[in-house]
Amino acid sequence: MRTLAESVDVVIVGGGTAGHIAAIQAARAGATTSVLEAGSMLGGTMTVGGVWMPNHYFTPNGPVVQGIPWELYVKSKETEGLPVPDYRQRRPVETPGYYSYINVPVYASIAEAEAVQAGVILHYHEFVAEVVAVGDTWEITSLGRGIRRITTCREIVDCSGDSDVVRMLGLAVTRSSVSQPGTLQYQIKGIEHEQLWKTEVQALYDEALAAGRLQKGDWAYANMEPFLYYLQHGGHNATHLYDADTSDADGQTRANIEGRERMLRMFRFVRECIPGAERAYLAFMAPHGLARETYHTVGEVTVVKDDFVKATDFPDKVANAFNYIDLHSQEVGCEISFVEADRVPTVPFRALIPKGSRRITVAGRNVSANRIAFAGIRAQCTCMAMGQAMGAAAALAVKRGVASRDVPAADIVALTVEHGAVPL
Ligand SMILES: Cc1cc2nc3c(=O)[nH]c(=O)nc-3n(C[C@H](O)[C@H](O)[C@H](O)COP(=O)(O)OP(=O)(O)OC[C@H]3O[C@@H](n4cnc5c(N)ncnc54)[C@H](O)[C@@H]3O)c2cc1C
Repeated sequence: MRTLAESVDVVIVGGGTAGHIAAIQAARAGATTSVLEAGSMLGGTMTVGGVWMPNHYFTPNGPVVQGIPWELYVKSKETEGLPVPDYRQRRPVETPGYYSYINVPVYASIAEAEAVQAGVILHYHEFVAEVVAVGDTWEITSLGRGIRRITTCREIVDCSGDSDVVRMLGLAVTRSSVSQPGTLQYQIKGIEHEQLWKTEVQALYDEALAAGRLQKGDWAYANMEPFLYYLQHGGHNATHLYDADTSDADGQTRANIEGRERMLRMFRFVRECIPGAERAYLAFMAPHGLARETYHTVGEVTVVKDDFVKATDFPDKVANAFNYIDLHSQEVGCEISFVEADRVPTVPFRALIPKGSRRITVAGRNVSANRIAFAGIRAQCTCMAMGQAMGAAAALAVKRGVASRDVPAADIVALTVEHGAVPL
């Protein structure tokens, strides 16, 4: 194994939903920046995970997340040869925001090209194993096949999704009393939809569940939608993995195995029992199961339900957080409650500063939020906006020779606005 050394201003741990935006922002603002990413590409849950539906760039009243996230979205639509939807032309429908979809191969490649263009040093297939403070710098050990890399840096943005660095440093983390189930993304194609009858397929599903051929969680939205919905969407985003904990390799392995068991059971049922699905085939499977939540960083402030639904006007807001509350549980399935379209919740800087720390911030689903608030704040556009803000905070800290903890929130927002973000 080779031991390599690298020195940069800012290290982004995890190049996922929040991390790829944080990296591009930090680098464009002049900080030498590297990304240590355990996987093979940028985007994390939104690309590798198969959750290709970023919510929400817009409310019916206007843009809430723009900047680098929107720039990458627009560039990827241009590459796909598709028009960018004009959200202003849409009438308000039953949900107060609009779904957007990305094409994974295009988006991941565009994000990577923009990161490289900005000067971001990408290290794929490397996971962070240890972080220690050495005076005013961090020393990060990451491991990849044949490589042990020691990176020194001034600032870290933990975008690992599971508060990995925060936990390594022994800073406070918490878990929800009841964790939301995870999901393995897959898609069945080849179903002849014109052959499907709502009542017939529902009866077949109900019988299979009662007979034990299917299990609760194989169709996670049974409390909200008929089984026809599962078939119409080819099983996409449709499975619950109870107690999925992907914060270590053992938990990730269990989630993968359970996800694939559920997928196979459902696929066999659909192909063998549903009239019109005789030629169904499994067209897509994400490489690994996903958790919706594991460890939350305990920040200087924790966002709670009322902050989210009443849109508390935080004095140190750094990102918009417009989304519905999308709460998954083993008992119920999925409960969605909408926040009024006129209210735009925000993320305070203090919810991204691990309590007791000065030169590390977090972004994405590491955010300090309680169970209900978290079910709203974890949406991808919010994660990306947090990433842009914390990339800006890290770059400003390095430039000014201070700790990110001491960068005023207003300056962070001003820098993100220079890079296209919506003023807050
Ligand atoms: C099943 C499911 C459906 C969802 N549906 C939607 C939806 O429809 N719309 C929406 O907007 N949001 C949705 N969400 C929420 C949203 O996708 C996530 O909350 C968000 O993507 C999390 O972003 P993140 O940056 O925190 O983590 P991730 O995108 O998961 O990125 C974390 C990255 O860190 C890397 N990493 C982790 N640990 C290490 C380490 N030690 N060293 C190096 N790298 C590391 C990982 O490989 C990964 O790339 C859904 C989530 C799930 C699970």
